[in-house]
Amino acid sequence: MTANGHRPTANGKVFLVGAGPGDPNLLTVRAAELIASADVVATDALVAPEIIARIPKSAEIIFVGKRSGAHSVPQDQTNRLLIEKARQGKRVVRLKGGDPFVFGRGGEEAEELAAASIDFEIVPGISSAIAGPAYAGIPVTHRSHATSVTLVTGHESDETTGVDWQALARLSGTIVFLMGVGNLPMIVRKLRENGAPASCPIALISKATTTQQRTVTGTLENIEQRAADIATPALSPAHFVRLSGRRHRRDW
Ligand code: SAH
Repeated sequence: MTANGHRPTANGKVFLVGAGPGDPNLLTVRAAELIASADVVATDALVAPEIIARIPKSAEIIFVGKRSGAHSVPQDQTNRLLIEKARQGKRVVRLKGGDPFVFGRGGEEAEELAAASIDFEIVPGISSAIAGPAYAGIPVTHRSHATSVTLVTGHESDETTGVDWQALARLSGTIVFLMGVGNLPMIVRKLRENGAPASCPIALISKATTTQQRTVTGTLENIEQRAADIATPALSPAHFVRLSGRRHRRDW
């Protein structure tokens, strides 16, 4: 098996495919080719309807999407489904929003496929973590302002696990929080408690790269108030550089 999981077999194959951040024009050529030749497409809820519309009529479509708060197919059931379809000799496209390996559980699915000796391939996609800020006119790095970018899950139900807030608050680069809208008050509090200044810039970008994109900007002091009615999915780059002359979409 190669690093990308290629393994010759008589079975079908599973493609873990990034569908991009929302704008259907940000689908890769490779993803479009695979969708067009799929027998089965198992897709997330975040994938754009224009991309779903590319799935051939002959293919079986299965919605396994996860949406915060909404009913979804449990992960082990999704894994079993991918394995079962591949064992029937099918070309299976597992479509995921953004990039499959950026908070997309692509790693877990790849592990399960490897353990079941199913041939698979990873097809990267354009992540909302990078493309969302870009469409809002926010470069995640900039030689004069941000020399690093850190992607962090904002979905920390237990505040004590995982995220090193002290280290984050000390960073001088950009931090992009995904899945963080519900926890915005906690994110703001943790950054402040660990020394980030009240004046630290933060943006919330909702439905990034879609026609409904909306950006709210502010500081750690006022963002909660300003972003009170923000719709999901959304991400929040903090410490960002704002290029007002170069915004891609006029939503500021
Ligand atoms: N694999 C995806 C991320 C999956 S986690 C990627 O690379 O983009 C889901 C989170 O991604 C959402 O909670 C939200 O924070 C972010 N997200 C995905 N698409 C988005 C979009 N179009 N606009 C804003 N945030 C988005």
